[in-house]
This record gives sequence, structure tokens and C-alpha cells, in this order.
Amino acid sequence: MSAMAPFVFGGLRSRVVFARGAIERTGEEIDRLGRSRALVLSTPAQADDAEALAGRLGERAAGVFTGATMHTPVEVTEAALAVFNDLGADCVVSFGGGSTIGLGKAIAVRTGADQIAIPTTYAGSEMTDILGETQGGEKTTRRDPAILPETVIYDVDLTLGLPVGMSATSGLNALAHAAEALYAVDRNPIITLMAGEAVRALTAGLPGVVAAPLDRAARSKAQYGAWLCGACLGSSSMALHHKLCHVLGGSFNLAHAETHSVMLPHTVGFNAFAAPELLAPIEEALGASAGIALHRFAAGLGAPTRLSDIGLRRGDIATAADIAMRNPYANPRPFSRDDIVHILENAYAGTTPPY
Ligand code: NAD
Repeated sequence: MSAMAPFVFGGLRSRVVFARGAIERTGEEIDRLGRSRALVLSTPAQADDAEALAGRLGERAAGVFTGATMHTPVEVTEAALAVFNDLGADCVVSFGGGSTIGLGKAIAVRTGADQIAIPTTYAGSEMTDILGETQGGEKTTRRDPAILPETVIYDVDLTLGLPVGMSATSGLNALAHAAEALYAVDRNPIITLMAGEAVRALTAGLPGVVAAPLDRAARSKAQYGAWLCGACLGSSSMALHHKLCHVLGGSFNLAHAETHSVMLPHTVGFNAFAAPELLAPIEEALGASAGIALHRFAAGLGAPTRLSDIGLRRGDIATAADIAMRNPYANPRPFSRDDIVHILENAYAGTTPPY
């Protein structure tokens, strides 16, 4: 028997309420935080739901801001901050996906406001202290304890209307967090357990979601997996996969969840060559080595499998590889610029990865 590898576990700091109908408990969660005037946030697409939530919160709702948008532009944050201050709000309730939760985080890090996040996708931002913001076309990312939402409410009913295509890509976005947590340089036994459970829950839940989007059992399994994936993302350093997706999204404006869906089999397949034992939960759940299995799984969900289908041009591959090589970071398999080009070419064409 070999000794346990050393590790640091920072704990999980958010309060999580996971229950069907839990949105009705938002008011009581505001009280629990000692707050009384919430600004409810959403995208324009979810404005009706945000207004309805504010209506149900009654006096605990200071107002609603429905202008959240992708990539958390600083101009939008400033507009929302003006509303937050004018209304004398003392906390935010972020109702939606990663874009809305990003806006809540941007307000919180500037004001110290408490956040209640009510996620309606599987992206996982609600469980992290990470905020990505854009200004003048440049995306910057930072970590701060004030960015982590205090309370997260998972209510399966809020995911029933997530379109099938977005459910698949958002679920694969979540799976990417668990996959990279399995081989993260700073992994620890608790996060490894959570990542394995996340893989099992998402691979079990997502096919059912795609087959029957109103199936609450499949939806809640997927949502449970997404919560665990978010916790993995918030507690581990991500590697090649997340870095490449960041380059493709940040510099070539590819859509977030779709990019993760296309890249995941190729990046994880590349790393499976070096760390097959760490990726065993994926192999066990899907019955093939990680890259091959994820490629088959994504195709089975009807998710996009080619970068050429989601807006990358062939000529962008060399530039993307150059950007990806700029800053070093830990990865279980060392790589060269040629490796990155090869990974991107395979992902561009949608060929099955070798591992
Ligand atoms: P999103 O929040 O951009 O949502 C996409 C669209 O779907 C929006 O119009 C939204 O209103 C709509 N939508 C959301 N839930 C719905 C539902 N249940 N039914 C119908 N429509 C719904 O998408 P996302 O993938 O959740 O978030 C992506 C953003 O989150 C990116 O900017 C990404 O960088 C960020 N993100 C950040 C972190 C982090 O830790 N900081 C983690 C993951 C994602």
C-alpha cells in the first residue's frame, strides 16, 4: 500500500438548496442572509421569469435588471450597478445561465453584495469564485472570494424549458469541468470523488434529457451532475481543454458551450494517452477510452462535433495555436505547438480521437 499523496482541500463554501420547487424558497434564503432588498437579474430572454420571481418576492425585491448578456461586458455591469445603487438594493438574485450569474458576480465584487444564484443551465459558474469580464473587446478573468455566490438554488423545474441543443452542449460544458478535475495538478480525494460522481450523473442523465426534455428524473440527474461539475471547476486548476476553449471563445468569438462540446473529446483524448488511470471514471461510464467515448457520447446527444460547424475558419488554427502557447500551465501530458495544431485540426474536421 502506498502512502496518500499530499493535498489541500479548501472546503465548499456555498450553501446549496437542491429541490424541485426550491425557487419558492428564494425569499427565505434572502432573509437567511440578513438582506431585504434584492435586485433580480436576468437576460432579456428570461425577463418574464425574472419579473415573475420579483413579483413573488414582494417587498424583498428592490427591482429587476434584465440586460445581462454574454461575456459580462463592463458597460452592462455599470448600467446594472447604477440600477442597484438607485434602488438601494442590498443583494442580487441571479436567475439564468452563466451570463446572468456572471453579472451578479461582477456586481458583488464591486459592492460586496451577497448573491443568490438560481442556475437554469448546466454551465456551473454559480459554484466558482471566477469572473470573466470583457472591456474594449478584451476578456480578463479573475478570482476573488467575493465573487463566489453565498447561496445557490437548484430547482429542476427551471431547466425543463432549456432547449434540447443547449441542454446537450451545456451538459458537455459541465462534463469538461469534471474531466479536467480528474487529472488536475491540484486535485484532492474529495474533488476526485465528486468528479467521478459528476461523470456518472451527467452521462446517465443527459441522454434522457435529449430523448425527453420534460423528464424530471433525467433533468434532475443532469442538474445534480452539473452542480458537482461546478464545484470541481471552482476547486481545481483547469488545463489544456479549458485553456484552448478560452482561446477559441475569447479570440475567435466561438459560442461557449458549443466550443466545449466540440473540443472535449480531442483535449481529453490527448490527455488520456498520458493519464488513462485518472480518466477511468469516464471509461467506466461510457465503455471506451475517454476521447473516443466522449466523441461518441457528444454525437449521440446531437451536439456539434466540428469546429468548422461552429464558426472557426481553417486559417484561424495557426493563430489559435500561437495564442495557446503564449502562457505555460500544468497539463498531464506535455505538448508542443504541433500537438495543438494537430488537436485543432482533428476538432476542425470532427474526426474520432485516437484515445
Ligand atoms: P447563457 O447564460 O449565455 O445562456 C444562453 C441563453 O439561454 C440566454 O439567452 C439565456 O437567457 C437562455 N437560457 C438560460 N437558461 C434557460 C432555460 N432554462 N430555458 C430557456 N432559455 C434559457 O449560457 P451559459 O452557457 O449558461 O453561460 C455561458 C457564460 O457563462 C459564458 O460567458 C461563460 O464564460 C460563463 N461561464 C463562467 C464560468 C465561471 O466560473 N466564471 C463557468 C461557466 C460558464
